[in-house]
Amino acid sequence: MTIEANAVVVLDYELKVNGEVIDSSFGQEPLSFIHGVGALIPGFSAAIDGLKKGDKKAFVVSAEDGYGELDEEAIRTYAKDDFPGDVDLSVGAQLFFETEDQMEIPCFVKEVVGNDVIIDFNHPLAGKELHFNIEVKDVRPATDEEKAHGHVHGAHGHHH
Ligand SMILES: [Zn+2]
Repeated sequence: MTIEANAVVVLDYELKVNGEVIDSSFGQEPLSFIHGVGALIPGFSAAIDGLKKGDKKAFVVSAEDGYGELDEEAIRTYAKDDFPGDVDLSVGAQLFFETEDQMEIPCFVKEVVGNDVIIDFNHPLAGKELHFNIEVKDVRPATDEEKAHGHVHGAHGHHH
């Protein structure tokens, strides 16, 4: 079968940004997911639609179809004193801001200037063009249970 809505897809992928490999499943655990349930970036889902087992494909996903454009308003400045003393404020450190309704929002320390800490709430891959190389390892229909759960069960999937 080909990759279509409600197909279970198992694939290996390599992701390059600015010519540098930043993520790869080759030689490790492949990625498995139910196609069309919305867990992946739109540009990736669109590019693999209609492929079948054994197919290989290289494609580019724009920022718009990937993790979104960089939002300048999501870059905010705080004072060092606003943070608890034991928080790592080195550039690149990941932090979690807790909202009033207990949601944890991931963000990164972008820059530290004097007493100012500049925090970036954009996804680390926002504004980036994504270069993918993929190889489809398997395509099969999702079981009713998998469809109900919204994730893949079995060897490469979810274990209950
Ligand atoms: Zn499940």
